[in-house]
Amino acid sequence: PAGTMQRALVQLEKSFGYTSFKSDLQKRAVLSITEGASNVLVSMPTGSGKSLCYQLPALLSKGVTLVISPLIALIEDQVSQLHSKGLRGDALNSKTAAVDRKRILADLKSDRPSVKLLYITPELAATDGFRSLLMSLHERGLISRVAVDEAHCISEWGHDFRPDYLKLGDLRLAFSDVPFLALTATATKQVQRQIESNLKMPSPVTMFKMPCFRSNLFYDVKHKDVLRDSFKDLRDFVRSSLGEGEGREAGIIYCRTRDGCQSLAGRLTSGGVKARAYHAGLGGKERTEVQHQWMEGQIPVIVATVSFGMGVDKGNVRFVAHWTLPKSLESYYQESGRAGRDGRQSFCRIYYSRFDRNEIVFLMKRDAGRMNKKSKSPAVSAKVKEASEKSFEALVKYCEVPCCRHGAIADYFGDPKPNCGKSCDFCKNPREVKEAARDMKLCQKG
Ligand code: ADP
Ligand code: MG
Ligand code: ZN
Repeated sequence: PAGTMQRALVQLEKSFGYTSFKSDLQKRAVLSITEGASNVLVSMPTGSGKSLCYQLPALLSKGVTLVISPLIALIEDQVSQLHSKGLRGDALNSKTAAVDRKRILADLKSDRPSVKLLYITPELAATDGFRSLLMSLHERGLISRVAVDEAHCISEWGHDFRPDYLKLGDLRLAFSDVPFLALTATATKQVQRQIESNLKMPSPVTMFKMPCFRSNLFYDVKHKDVLRDSFKDLRDFVRSSLGEGEGREAGIIYCRTRDGCQSLAGRLTSGGVKARAYHAGLGGKERTEVQHQWMEGQIPVIVATVSFGMGVDKGNVRFVAHWTLPKSLESYYQESGRAGRDGRQSFCRIYYSRFDRNEIVFLMKRDAGRMNKKSKSPAVSAKVKEASEKSFEALVKYCEVPCCRHGAIADYFGDPKPNCGKSCDFCKNPREVKEAARDMKLCQKG
């Protein structure tokens, strides 16, 4: 209702200093959560303002909002961000100073606790002592909601599985009438399902999810084995994506090995396209220099291993090419998504070959074997192994099966089929894509 909207906007400005919501999705999530929605899953990319989805409702509600976060470092970060806005945030964990602990516990036991946001680790949530404190709060109607941040940690499919998160399912069952919400940046369909089932969230779960479709990205796949000269194809792709103008447009080529990066950068440069390699084998100083030159537009093309790109914020990346295969469809979506941040037309291409596929399958088996030897929990590592195999299979399917590329990505992330238009090779020219897929298979047999 309008009342909630009004209160939310007033509080947003008063406490956080923002005059509007960051997105329509953030607004809808905040309103619905403030009004007491339970079993909510918020899935938005990093940086889109998920914290506000429980922080603002917390300030608008009676009682305490419990926030579960996987790492003490993350908790400290969040609490100090709140403090920097002059807001209160409290944390209980093994690093909490004794005086703070005493103060917080006394406050929570008092008739009218002043703690609004209490950050805890999943380990603490599972202890008997903390459980009885929660019981006492609950009996007095003082738990306003439980927010599980970084909720993908509850899934073996997620990239940082934390077994302690599994205990949160019990918490949900023990406080079944308390509103629960889970927040994550990674939500493939499998991870979503596992969050729901491991957190014991009864369906239907209310989803606030940013759709993954980006219409300004043109996706295509080239089969290395079918191309007469795949390097030439790459060079032409780079040239046409960068365009003729002398704008400081840029691009990224991902390549698995250091040698590969090095030799590809050399060949491109001799072929008239300025490129430099970036990988962990370079000294720190050289890496910084390469990144700087690329950011500044002095070098248009960077040929990098996956160690490049995290936190890199550059708008005019006109293409992302994968010369070798990424490790999953999810990684591919993230890596290719570095193109076109400025909203302009950009190009994402994978160079696929069965040879490369087999090599990755081999490497995954080898890594899984090593992990198994080190692991304390064979059941968990078996699941992690299965998960990484499945997500790589999804990538292989994306490359091999001729159908809409945006559709395949959306399906993997549990989104409805997007309106691709002609933003992928298949929708632009289905016959050609089908023929290439057929030729690729023939090449294998021949
Ligand atoms: P996430 O958890 O989704 O990665 P955060 O909650 O850490 O994102 O928020 C990312 C940044 O966005 C923070 O600096 C936060 O202060 C800012 N932010 C959140 N909501 C708004 C808003 N409505 N207006 C402006 N900035 C916002
Ligand atoms: Mg966050
Ligand atoms: Zn399409």
